[in-house]
Amino acid sequence: MGTLYWLLYPLSKRLKFELQEQPKITQKTVKKGSLHAEEGMCLPFKYVLGNFMDALEKGANIVLFAGGIGPCRFGYYSPLFEATLKDLGYLFRLISIEPWFTGRGFIDKYRFWRSFAKLGRVKNPIRIAWAIWESFYIAQCIDEITSMLNYTRAIEVKKGSTNRAYRKALDLLANSKHYWQAKRNFETAKEMMAAIKTDASKLKGVVGIVGEFYVVLEPSANMRIIEWLNDHGIAVICSIFVTDWVGPDTSPKVAHINKIKAHELAKKEDTFHRWCGGDCTANVGHAVYLMDHLNVDAIIQLLPFTCMPDTMATVGLMAVTEKRDIPFARYIYDEHSALAGLETRWEGLIDTIEMKRLDKELHEIAQREAVRSKV
Ligand code: SF4
Repeated sequence: MGTLYWLLYPLSKRLKFELQEQPKITQKTVKKGSLHAEEGMCLPFKYVLGNFMDALEKGANIVLFAGGIGPCRFGYYSPLFEATLKDLGYLFRLISIEPWFTGRGFIDKYRFWRSFAKLGRVKNPIRIAWAIWESFYIAQCIDEITSMLNYTRAIEVKKGSTNRAYRKALDLLANSKHYWQAKRNFETAKEMMAAIKTDASKLKGVVGIVGEFYVVLEPSANMRIIEWLNDHGIAVICSIFVTDWVGPDTSPKVAHINKIKAHELAKKEDTFHRWCGGDCTANVGHAVYLMDHLNVDAIIQLLPFTCMPDTMATVGLMAVTEKRDIPFARYIYDEHSALAGLETRWEGLIDTIEMKRLDKELHEIAQREAVRSKV
């Protein structure tokens, strides 16, 4: 999922376990996952199931997945993966990393530590904690660089220069031997990204993307919408990155605000008064932040078909975008989604953004003229 591999890669070096190369998600992967998943199951489950099947066929014997206690289907993913894959005859061990805080105090901490101890050859809790912390820091730096990529690529002068710089930066950061080296490499990586030749006049607009985390983060699940928009002169600001999702709710976020703050913003909008599960209210709050503080020209919501929290979030998103007169588009994905159908709608959104920008400019000119004529 997105840059998750770059969180696990430094961790595998530190905890001494072998990590299989990030598998490519192909149409075959999706077909396999969809065939063996329950029909009504949400899209991320089908993608990840297909991924696991590919990995097990290539020789993996451990499957690592995040547990969860949220009120959406995600909490059931781990046991369902285990049951489905075992039914299909695969031999493996599933390690589920449960959240650090589920309200059971020391038991939570113990279960969390034990998952990592089972994973590699390192058993010492202090070394494990340090390895997690260091790897998390590296992944956070990578997410920061990814957020620069999503913006800079839209205004690059030479096509492909941002992707090339990004890949170099990623390699540099992922292979940092320790925290201090990672810190130095982060500065170098930022300089590499800032050195890309850009032309601000190419920018047609800036959109904020909110939605279900898997579809937002995994390019093959969202049909590479970010890259497509960048190629058409639209810069993108995402409301979530891998470390934002993996890390504690209260930790600093690459996407500026955390879930708690986003929830408070949503509450003030008079849309949802209670936490509505998954990323529902957080998405509304993030959209408010993107519109009010980062001046985006449009909000896009990406969600998988049958996703419960994001289906609810749509209502709130429609209300907050309408109040600010900002275009809002939502794209729903399932295993039958095809690029051709989506591209037409993405093009429509770009037209809307351009028309809105033009309207604004004309309005400003008219206002200036009115003031001048009075003088
Ligand atoms: S957030 Fe939506 S798509 Fe993701 S696991 Fe929950 S219900 Fe499924």
